[in-house]
Amino acid sequence: MPEFELIDRIRARAAVRDDVILGIGDDAALLQVPPGRHLVVAMDTLNTGVHFPRDTAAADIGWKALAVNLSDLAAMGAEPAWCTLSLSLPESDEDWVDGFLDGFLALAAGHRVALVGGDTTRGPLSVCVTVHGFVEPGRALRRDAARVGDAVWISGTLGDAAAALALLDAAAPVPPPLRERLDRPQPRVGLGRSLAGIAHACIDVSDGLLADLDHVCAASGVGMRIALDALPASEALREACDATARAAFQAVGGDDYELAFSAPADADAAVLAAASAAGVAASRIGEVVTGERVRVFDAGGTEWQPPRRGYAHFDG
Ligand code: ADP
Ligand code: MG
Repeated sequence: MPEFELIDRIRARAAVRDDVILGIGDDAALLQVPPGRHLVVAMDTLNTGVHFPRDTAAADIGWKALAVNLSDLAAMGAEPAWCTLSLSLPESDEDWVDGFLDGFLALAAGHRVALVGGDTTRGPLSVCVTVHGFVEPGRALRRDAARVGDAVWISGTLGDAAAALALLDAAAPVPPPLRERLDRPQPRVGLGRSLAGIAHACIDVSDGLLADLDHVCAASGVGMRIALDALPASEALREACDATARAAFQAVGGDDYELAFSAPADADAAVLAAASAAGVAASRIGEVVTGERVRVFDAGGTEWQPPRRGYAHFDG
């Protein structure tokens, strides 16, 4: 199938919004930013074998490509609006593209995000997405806003996706709830929106909790103390592994796409109300202290040494 037919196929299925003056089909899109709001922009790429296992279904790749981007907007407290999609495909496979769009557009529809443009090329399978959203001036949840004395919070549960990946690597069976967390992360967009104005700093956990909280510490010039026992785990994770493996998956595993954030120590009720309004759990896992990085302590008060701090490309 020629490139322009693939693009037509994409255009036929892309939803529109009133603020899209001109979408797919011209040299560029024309978009109306609401007056008085900041435009928030994020981009993330997924490469086969690096960001998803080679056997991943096209629909799951489509979902995840958009989910990881929406997660970045969520972490800014932004409301998503538009996205663009760059697809590099080894061959022009319409079935694969249809499946990809099933996942991608299902998530887009759930968040009222319009696909407004992109690029389609031949090459090794790679998917690059940008998302655009809005935030009220002064309300963005930035990494540099943590303050000493803040409480540290995490949404949802941690470690499921990392456990799924480890089981896949070991050619062991993967419990479906864990595989679901790896393939279909739920970006915490509603939570990010409701935390704007309550939380101080925020980041989405993509590379592992400690690695990502270290970024907040560096940007904010603070340290953190995290209680290992306070890290929330799903029932599926508790059943899948022992406490030692679980702690590693939770603290340094990647691909969680939960929001880690700091909030004033007396704002527990507001945080819990925001979480419940967004339909997501929030757990208080530690505090912001003077220092430079994150330190984790077990129930006995002994500092816990992580096997590594998180996932970084080009490590080792
Ligand atoms: P140009 O050569 O001017 O870059 P293209 O043929 O790449 O034009 O794209 C034509 C139109 O189709 C543009 O509006 C572009 O944004 C859109 N488009 C191309 N690929 C995609 C894609 N994968 N997803 C969404 N829109 C796309
Ligand atoms: Mg182009």
